[in-house]
Amino acid sequence: MTMLSSLNPATGDVVGEVPVTPPDQIQAAVDRARAAHPTWAALGLEGRAAVLKQAADIFTARVDAHAELMTREQGKPMKEAKGEARGLGSGLALEVDEMVEALQADVVERGGHRSTIYHDPLGVVGAITPWNFPMSMPHWMVLPSLMAGNAVVLKPSEETPLCGQAYADVLNEVLPNNVLVVAHGADDQGKALVLSDVDMIAFTGSREVGKHIMREASGTLKRVVLELGGKDPMIVLDDADIEQAAKFAAFNSFRNCGQVCISTERIFVMDSIADEFEGALSELASALKVGDGLEASDVGPMVNVQQRDHVLAQIDAAVGAGATVLTGGQGHHDNFVTPTVLSGITEDMDISTVETFGPVACVTRVSSVDEAVTRANDTRFGLGAVVFGGDSDQTEIVARQLTAGMIGVNRSPGGVPGTPWVGARESGFGFHKSRDGHRQFAQTRVLTRPV
Ligand code: NAD
Repeated sequence: MTMLSSLNPATGDVVGEVPVTPPDQIQAAVDRARAAHPTWAALGLEGRAAVLKQAADIFTARVDAHAELMTREQGKPMKEAKGEARGLGSGLALEVDEMVEALQADVVERGGHRSTIYHDPLGVVGAITPWNFPMSMPHWMVLPSLMAGNAVVLKPSEETPLCGQAYADVLNEVLPNNVLVVAHGADDQGKALVLSDVDMIAFTGSREVGKHIMREASGTLKRVVLELGGKDPMIVLDDADIEQAAKFAAFNSFRNCGQVCISTERIFVMDSIADEFEGALSELASALKVGDGLEASDVGPMVNVQQRDHVLAQIDAAVGAGATVLTGGQGHHDNFVTPTVLSGITEDMDISTVETFGPVACVTRVSSVDEAVTRANDTRFGLGAVVFGGDSDQTEIVARQLTAGMIGVNRSPGGVPGTPWVGARESGFGFHKSRDGHRQFAQTRVLTRPV
């Protein structure tokens, strides 16, 4: 049996290993899930909700163990890992209730006829997930799939298989056998899952892999929901609270070492306040403690050496093309990169267009709001965007001109609970969370009769 070793990105030590599922065994995993599906679907919405809610207490009892595992396997600081681990248990009952509500049948009566719109299970969902939120990303794909009455084959990232397994282990303590099957491996296992006879692929990961999946899934017109990368902009207007704006930029460019899909990667600041903003952001960035997430650091390592080299190469190329390093800009040691603030970024630089996914905040000075909006929208991505400005309608008017899927005004882009997590343009295809998001994991079916 081939084993996949999982390494601690802060130390290079082996954290643990899992058995790899050979690609030619993926269909057998799907078959097991398919056989378990009818009984699970037959439980009905309320029955499935009751089963899944039992997992909340188990997640909560394991917060410390899960958080430590995430830090050791993926590298994020313990305080961030604890937040991610806590959310699994504390939010579960509410999420499940939301899904029950979203998946109720709707009735429409017109002209003496009644149509009932059902949201039925699809069958088996293949869930393919990334490493950056190694437990919440599986959760975001698996929970709505299960609640809609599907069985699931989960293929966690090869960078964080232990976290993916630990997540599934909790659910498998409450689920009937084979309703949730885990298949471990990398690209080849992901490709085999896409080509298997699953009914849907729920994917979170990079834009390039998302496009590949969409092409491959087209052969059988499989349903796909793709949550992809971003190159999120932030606009700082001249009436913004500069301290708050700098604090947000530091938080959202450097948390999880910048390895967040809605990370602030491009900042457009009005000329009049640029000196003050750059000064405040650089001060905050240089105060962050870089180190092993188990040792109370603020910024942990990059997930692997390829990701570190990609980030350092983008910084070097930007500096070579005229950008200025205000702070950071260095590989620290091993997989570490110091939180970096670059100014003088121009649109021709690679770092302006290609997702960085590292601890780098790129500042561009602009002389008008129109220029800020045009530059912010000059991307094929469209995940999140943020505007910091005065507490006025004008700030919201600027925000409404942005082409991202989720836009925050004086706050992070993600909406309040119950709203969609949605990428526009090449940041997503389909979406999840919210009534409409939950329904994407179900087959809509309409039954009409005279009344
Ligand atoms: P990735 O696309 O390299 O890998 C994601 C998953 O796909 C992994 O499990 C991998 O093994 C699998 N995979 C790779 N090639 C495949 C193929 N050809 N067919 C099927 N599966 C394949 O992404 P990553 O490096 O793990 O994660 C980082 C990316 O995820 C970033 O672009 C980030 O922005 C994005 N992301 C997006 C969101 C969102 O909500 N939009 C959330 C988190 C991460």
